[in-house]
Amino acid sequence: MAGRPAGAWPGPSTTLVGVMGDPVAHSLSPLLHNTAFAELGLDWASTGFRVPAGGAAGALEGARSLGLAGLSVTMPHKAAVAALVDERTSVAARLEAVNCVIRRGDRLVGDNTDGEGFVVSLRRGAGFEPDGRRCVVLGAGGAARAVVLALAEAGATEIVVVNRSPERASRAAALAGPAGRVGQPGEAVGADLVVNATPVGMAGGPAPGERPAVDPAALRPGQVVADLVYHPIETPWLAAARSAGATTLGGLGMLVHQAAAQILAWTGEEPPVRAMWAAAAGALGG
Ligand code: NAP
Repeated sequence: MAGRPAGAWPGPSTTLVGVMGDPVAHSLSPLLHNTAFAELGLDWASTGFRVPAGGAAGALEGARSLGLAGLSVTMPHKAAVAALVDERTSVAARLEAVNCVIRRGDRLVGDNTDGEGFVVSLRRGAGFEPDGRRCVVLGAGGAARAVVLALAEAGATEIVVVNRSPERASRAAALAGPAGRVGQPGEAVGADLVVNATPVGMAGGPAPGERPAVDPAALRPGQVVADLVYHPIETPWLAAARSAGATTLGGLGMLVHQAAAQILAWTGEEPPVRAMWAAAAGALGG
């Protein structure tokens, strides 16, 4: 694939992808994608498509007829897109959620790279191997479900889901099969890995000033504590866990690695993770 000369505008020969969601204006996905395309010397470009709730079917038809090579999918469309694509990977089918659409000929394939992004980030960013480990996941939404399934597939022996709504907690825990169960925040004391997969702590999030359910005072050296929130790059809860001696991991690594998996799926090229990380961290002021 020929590259676009540096500084040249995208043109008729440019291969287009994008991120669909609402809101989408502040999404870092186009920056991550475009950084990768530039580093790889590909004449590809990515942009954001604001698609309000209920618009997923029209957006996919548009993508099909305009010949987009792929789409990143974010809130509120992950479940709707999973029901609309022609094929789903096994992970996307089990999660009933798609964060990445890949065009293969005239067929749209739905994948979900969130869990893979999290586990790669855990391994690379914290040196943590889930195999044989005990994990506590706070939250039971789309991101938590991806994390629970990925930890189970990576061999975690116990995955305790702690969530405000018990019914959602049960559904998320079931994704881990016999390793999964619903539990209480106090169980974090005995875990090897504690993950905040709620938006608590996110800049502009739903609960300003609130902290995740696990008291950082209960955390200790030898544990890995991860927060999926990446804005701010380090949440107050994560900083407190670090002060308690735990090894900590922010959400930026997951964001970068889930996007990197999308680049690989679309282009077949090895993604330039370091450059993507630097671009995202720069945009977040880190
Ligand atoms: P979601 O589907 O809306 O789920 C949110 C979860 O958080 C639910 O389990 C909800 O509990 C819980 N929750 C929400 N507000 C809460 C509060 N005030 N107190 C306690 N629990 C609360 O959202 P999501 O897509 O899973 O995203 C969750 C977070 O992960 C967001 O901050 C998102 O930005 C982040 N994320 C990061 C990445 C990354 O690449 N780093 C990727 C995806 C998501 P109920 O079930 O009781 O409502």
